[in-house]
Amino acid sequence: MSDHPRNASVLRLVAACGIACGLPACPEKPPGAAQQPSSADAVKTPPMERQGPVAAAAGNVVETSPAPKRPERGPLPPQRWRDLTPDAERVMVHKGTEQPFTGKYVHQKADGTYHCRRCDAPLFRSNTKFDSGTGWPSFDSAIPGAVREVSDADGARTEIVCSHCGAHLGHVFKGEGFTDKNVRHCVNSVSLDFEPAASSTASSQTSAAAYFAGGCFWGVEHYFDQVPGVISAESGYMGGKTKSPRYEDVSRHHTGHAETVKVTYDPARVSYEELARLFFEIHDPTQKNRQGPDVGSQYRSAVFVSSETERQVVDKLISELEERGYDVATEVTAAGPFWKAEDYHQDYYERQGGAPSCHVRVQRFGR
Ligand SMILES: [Zn+2]
Repeated sequence: MSDHPRNASVLRLVAACGIACGLPACPEKPPGAAQQPSSADAVKTPPMERQGPVAAAAGNVVETSPAPKRPERGPLPPQRWRDLTPDAERVMVHKGTEQPFTGKYVHQKADGTYHCRRCDAPLFRSNTKFDSGTGWPSFDSAIPGAVREVSDADGARTEIVCSHCGAHLGHVFKGEGFTDKNVRHCVNSVSLDFEPAASSTASSQTSAAAYFAGGCFWGVEHYFDQVPGVISAESGYMGGKTKSPRYEDVSRHHTGHAETVKVTYDPARVSYEELARLFFEIHDPTQKNRQGPDVGSQYRSAVFVSSETERQVVDKLISELEERGYDVATEVTAAGPFWKAEDYHQDYYERQGGAPSCHVRVQRFGR
């Protein structure tokens, strides 16, 4: 057997996969990985930095203190603009309009700041939001300089765009008499991302953890890192029999672990269901014990749930997929200890540049 089963798998199967799924294999491991000892003697060497186990028993999903430090919010440079959902792209890029009363922020009243969904620039404060009854989030002023006004081609209305990235937000109307300022910024929810004020709610100070296994953890971690409301995504191992597994042990199928991503998130900003839906769209849940060219039980599709509520959410989504004709192979099992992977597996694409080659987002829920 090769010292590096991932690479061996890639070499063996890349041709077949290239035909079958059109995806290239994961990039080979960085040089540091190839230098990891692999002989039996290596077991005696000090392990690389790892942490764990992190408590993930049933009912222990919410970690209250200390919450991980939230990254500073926007605006982001163009190369870090967030991927847009088809709905967000239709509105923000192609200047579409969401249906009234359908957006997630129409009735939002919490204290906080509304950011640009694409570039994260802060746009509106919650203390300027008012209920216009129109079905779209309405603000009577924007953060100074955050929003640019552009006359529509027909001159009938005035469009508002993000000053930083130029994304379409909605329109501005004046003289309607809603508030003393007599201005209504009519904004599509899908163009916004709400950040609760730090001290506004207890939930904004808590975080929760979710655990997903969907093939090579580099790609899974990359996608979850892009999600607004996700505080951190870490690559690691779960679901095996041994403590403190090393990558080499997991790769040889000796331990039973799956390459797993721990997603720490703010439940006030993104729900477990939204994360689980994304999970089912960024890997192929119909593949058993593999993901494209990466073959082996460590690449199995699995959700490790920490509560009955999470299990119900995942079961519901699997049922939806099955109704749509997918033969779902995803395992749903109780979360166990999470072992953070070696440093060279963390933030792989952020450090190396580029985008995941093994994971492509596919809309499977028919939005
Ligand atoms: Zn923007």
